[in-house]
Amino acid sequence: MTETGVPAASTPDVESGFDPFAESEHITRLRQEVRALCMQFPDPYWRDLDKRREYPESFVRALTERGWLAALIPTRFGGLGYGLQEAAAMLQEINLSGGYAGPAHAQMYIMGTLLRHGSEDQKARVLPLLASGALRLQAFAVTEPNAGTDTTRIETVAVRDGTDYVISGRKIYISRVQHSDLMVLLTRTAPRDEQRPTTGLSLFLIDLRETGDRMTARPLRMMMNNDTNEVTFDQLRVPGENLIGVEGEGFRHILDGWNAERILIAAECVGDGRWFIGRASGYAKTRHVFGRPLGSNQGIQFPLATAWAQLEAADLVARRAAARFDAGLSCGAEANCAKLLASDASWAAANAAVDTLGGHGFNAAHDVERKFRETRLYRVAPVSNNLVLSYLAQHVLGLPRSY
Ligand SMILES: Cc1cc2nc3c(=O)[nH]c(=O)nc-3n(C[C@H](O)[C@H](O)[C@H](O)COP(=O)(O)OP(=O)(O)OC[C@H]3O[C@@H](n4cnc5c(N)ncnc54)[C@H](O)[C@@H]3O)c2cc1C
Repeated sequence: MTETGVPAASTPDVESGFDPFAESEHITRLRQEVRALCMQFPDPYWRDLDKRREYPESFVRALTERGWLAALIPTRFGGLGYGLQEAAAMLQEINLSGGYAGPAHAQMYIMGTLLRHGSEDQKARVLPLLASGALRLQAFAVTEPNAGTDTTRIETVAVRDGTDYVISGRKIYISRVQHSDLMVLLTRTAPRDEQRPTTGLSLFLIDLRETGDRMTARPLRMMMNNDTNEVTFDQLRVPGENLIGVEGEGFRHILDGWNAERILIAAECVGDGRWFIGRASGYAKTRHVFGRPLGSNQGIQFPLATAWAQLEAADLVARRAAARFDAGLSCGAEANCAKLLASDASWAAANAAVDTLGGHGFNAAHDVERKFRETRLYRVAPVSNNLVLSYLAQHVLGLPRSY
């Protein structure tokens, strides 16, 4: 029971002696360790941050000290050298505990661009510092006011000047800028070519400690506590050595990280969804209305049971996608499918939880409304489910590209 009187979330489990999809002992142990740490950051911690719109500094520090934010960094750079399966399990546990994995997700995911496309010098310079926690890389700037989903229309330019680049433009909805030392930034380095619109984009590693008044970040009040900003670059000079990968190939460089991000998001959604189901089914057992437990009504049971089943399905696809990713196999269909199913399932669970808790569902003291706002994001960002469906239609079903 939480201090708000709502029974704590627990994952409804199906008892079975044989599970062909069982996780390894290593991942099971990792889940237990993350869960134990998350218990030190209970509901009031997240509720209070949400109220004050503050960054989860002590939680991120605790994850960093355990080395978990360096999960995906290879051991030769001081990281844990884990795969996506471990990372997904860890992020899922955070959301399942009632927390919010956004910053941890960002740190794990964004450095993947550097890992895959950075020069040896960049990796040697930056990755050990990220692994030790001396530096944070939690900001990734792609979206612009005039180019959201249609990334190739970004207008932020990087113009070569000697060995440097000079960057000007405007980004919107860029998260955690104030809590990051480094940012990965997508720019245009060549005019948009209608025949090959994805070329001419380039990625830079920006040292946010050195931007001075050439970069401003204006915090935006969003639906949830996500430290999201509008960012302006005014002739920001960066050394050429900060270009990540090949000039003009930035779109391709971020594209191959999208599957990883979708899989991690799916895992987080499953964590959220199970938290909602645990919270709501616990409440439905103890709350009496019309002289009997609320949960004895099918109108309460069925939406919860439906969402639970949807979460199970989403979890299996997400785990399959992560396993394929770690094995180096193609996983575009699985990653997109997992993101779609999981974000829809967590949203279904969120709605069922609000309906179950009645007035408590809207009361900040009971946390469901906070998680409700948080999980809603994933149907739209980092990529909307409409675009995920377009991917599946085009690349899996072989239908014409619709956008
Ligand atoms: C809290 C939050 C944090 C964010 N953090 C970051 C960040 O750190 N870095 C970053 O770069 N971005 C970030 N974003 C931006 C996010 O990735 C974009 O909002 C998202 O990609 C959608 O882009 P848009 O808002 O410009 O929507 P638009 O592209 O304008 O689209 C509007 C809506 O129409 C839909 N749509 C668009 N085209 C089609 C089509 N062809 N068919 C059907 N539907 C379509 C979209 O799905 C979307 O729901 C964040 C957003 C939020 C809300």
